Amino acid sequence: MGCEEDGGDGIGRKEDFPGCGAAASTIPAPATPQSLLTLAIEEACRGVQAAHGGPFGALVVRPVSGAPSSGRDAEVAVLAQCHNEAVRQLDPTAHAEVVAIRTACRRLGTRKLDGCVLYTSCYPCPMCLCAILWSGIRHVYYAATSAEASRAGFDDGRFSSALQAQPQLVQLCTLQHVEHARARAPFEAYRAAVNSGRLEPY
Ligand SMILES: [Zn+2]
Repeated sequence: MGCEEDGGDGIGRKEDFPGCGAAASTIPAPATPQSLLTLAIEEACRGVQAAHGGPFGALVVRPVSGAPSSGRDAEVAVLAQCHNEAVRQLDPTAHAEVVAIRTACRRLGTRKLDGCVLYTSCYPCPMCLCAILWSGIRHVYYAATSAEASRAGFDDGRFSSALQAQPQLVQLCTLQHVEHARARAPFEAYRAAVNSGRLEPY
């Protein structure tokens, strides 16, 4: 059962989803990329405050109405709103995007998220990009660029250069940058947490 195939609300499961405290919710139109990225950025900051991991947040949403792939002027169901849990779970793969994909799949009772859209506070790393492709998600919106992440000390350059050797991977989905005034807020929160000893340097 993918997102597009699920005619009902399909998100009524009440299980507790580790790493994602918020229950599935519907955001009425217009849910814009800006407003959804604000939620991803806020989630990233929440994860830092909780000392759960790096300063990254992600949402998986399913359009309820409006343009399915753009999210513009759409009503959307937020299936997962998650942050990086690498520290809390002692899991280097618990990136926000991966945690959000796992949560959305459990919530829908599916391993396919076709038709869903992922919003992430930062350009996805190669691991997350592959996870996104495996999930069936083909539209991604992000706030901070990989260059901004690198300047903040989160450099996946080693992996990104390896990915560039396979550019066809990036061509399999749409990665759209959205300028956001608070894009760097999670990095600043992380720096403050490190300076105060609440988190270790990445
Ligand atoms: Zn990642």
